Amino acid sequence: MRSGWTAALSLLVVLGFCVLAIAVILEMRADRWAEATEASLNLNRAVGQDIARTLGTLDLALLDVAERLRQGQGVHRERLLHTPVFDRSATARHLGSVIILDAEGVVVSDTGGVGLQGLSLADRDYFRVHQAGTEAGLFLSRAFVGRGSGEWRLALSRRWDRPDGSLGGVVVAALKLDYFRDIFGSLALGPSGRITLLREDGIVLMRMPEEPGLIGQDLSQGTAFRAIPNAAEGHYRSISGRDKVERFYVFKRIEGLPLILNLGISIEAIEAEWRPRAFVIGGTTLVLVTALLAALWRLRLELGRRQTAEQAARQSEAEFRLLAENTSDIVSRIGSDGIRRYVSPSALRLVGRDPAQLVGRPATEDIHPEDMPAVRTEIARLRTREAEEAMITYRSWRADGTEIWLEATLKVVKDEASGALDGVVAVARDITERKALETQLARLARFDALTGVANRRAFDEALGQEWARCMQAGLPIALIMVDVDRFKSYNDHYGHQGGDACLRVVAATVGATIRRAGDLVARYGGEEFVVLLPETDAEGAEAVAERLRYEVEALGLPHASRGLECGVVTVSVGLAGMQPASCRIARGPEALVEAADQALYRAKQDGRNRVMRAPQIDPLGPVTVA
Ligand code: GH3
Ligand code: MG
Ligand code: MG
Repeated sequence: MRSGWTAALSLLVVLGFCVLAIAVILEMRADRWAEATEASLNLNRAVGQDIARTLGTLDLALLDVAERLRQGQGVHRERLLHTPVFDRSATARHLGSVIILDAEGVVVSDTGGVGLQGLSLADRDYFRVHQAGTEAGLFLSRAFVGRGSGEWRLALSRRWDRPDGSLGGVVVAALKLDYFRDIFGSLALGPSGRITLLREDGIVLMRMPEEPGLIGQDLSQGTAFRAIPNAAEGHYRSISGRDKVERFYVFKRIEGLPLILNLGISIEAIEAEWRPRAFVIGGTTLVLVTALLAALWRLRLELGRRQTAEQAARQSEAEFRLLAENTSDIVSRIGSDGIRRYVSPSALRLVGRDPAQLVGRPATEDIHPEDMPAVRTEIARLRTREAEEAMITYRSWRADGTEIWLEATLKVVKDEASGALDGVVAVARDITERKALETQLARLARFDALTGVANRRAFDEALGQEWARCMQAGLPIALIMVDVDRFKSYNDHYGHQGGDACLRVVAATVGATIRRAGDLVARYGGEEFVVLLPETDAEGAEAVAERLRYEVEALGLPHASRGLECGVVTVSVGLAGMQPASCRIARGPEALVEAADQALYRAKQDGRNRVMRAPQIDPLGPVTVA
């Protein structure tokens, strides 16, 4: 939704840019046109004024001559020449000749000096128009080539009347077309520009640039001429029928004269100045807008990618939370600084602690100090990248202070970008129950199931350890071996169950006799027991042996087997003591066992229910049998 708005806004900006650029370009174009129109109108006005002034001055001179003729003053060539206009004015330069015709059209006076005197010009348009009536006023003829000079000329003529109002004749001034050529030639019209001076009826008087044969032509049927509106001045566009160029025409009807000045500038020329600028602005805008759109498109793609990635991240986070929060294990995220960053809610149930209180605290603070060394070793392995995963088992405490065993799997987390170590994810579970079972199992593995005293395996271990300890400390060690007398027949008489019960009682009695910590009572096998007495010599052991023999007999457990002297359960005891030696050829603990066993054998042989001590054992020599 938000990205939709962003896209719409971006498009609006792009559109705004385009509109702005188009507006600037159009305004530049309008300015250019206004400028061209203004300049053309001004040019037309200036040229028009010049022509109006020149032709007006000539007309005044014609009127002056006509007036003088009306008053009956003879107009002679010399006098005509002395008319100020014809004589000294700037106009005089362009003046061809001034002639006066009588009522029949015969030249009566001529300043040209080419022998027109007496010649009839009654067929000329300027004569016929005045002959027809008084309405013509100032008449402008078609352009013609002067008879004597061979130059292009234009005749301005006025009728002169006699005092009675009848036609007296016509006075004619010929103006060289060079006059217009000079004016038009000084104008800078640009390529394809043209200026045309026409009579109201479409007859061309002058055209710049000149075209052969155009002067005197009737353009009244031409497209450009016909397009001229019926106003004093103005402008229009038209495609020339002659050169097919589209032009912007500015026309002006010259005041008081039947003349039209038509200035045409090619559209191309007007827009030539605007077009490159328009291209620069338009092109720049296009490039910028394209770049902007490309950038927007890239941004959109990037946003899309990011959105997908975020969605995936959210999804995986949701899945992680689902797992972390629904597992019975405590899932924690621990930073490389050892501080907890996340703890799953299961902590409350498992250790009775609020996860919020655990977050931000060192992860090792609740580990039993005795378990810390092992934990540190594993953490060091992870830190040095020796391992990616580790398993630690440690004791901790519940909120209520009870001890709990936890087993945690630590898995290193790597920074995705740099690959650097970024702490671990720990999954810890309560193994208190399992630990208790293990302890129980371990205990079971070391104790005899029937009698509850240590078993043969535990004895062997203890013998090895105590032997080494006493050897190091230079202390003696003694071993007592106990065997129930005539037990086979006891079994036969009381049954196996009875035998078992008897063994339990004997074991308990032996165990009760041995009170010193460090001494060990074990079932050696069948109805044989051993008592290991570290730091005890043979004499001490003999006293213990005698006591336990006595205690068993004193129990008075009936033993009704035949051939039994006292009729109670008794034991025979053999014992041995020695000083373990540490040299290479010295005898091991088996020598002690062997000696005690032999002493027991002798006790049996000697009549049972007695204690027999093995002779002194040479730690380096063979066992001597007494
Ligand atoms: P001695 O005085 O020479 O020792 O005679 P004895 O009958 O005790 O001789 P022996 O050592 O040959 O016999 C041991 C008997 O102890 C054999 C076996 O029936 C019995 N016995 C061994 N272990 C157990 C046991 O776990 N329970 C029971 N009830 N009897 C056992
Ligand atoms: Mg036996
Ligand atoms: Mg026995």
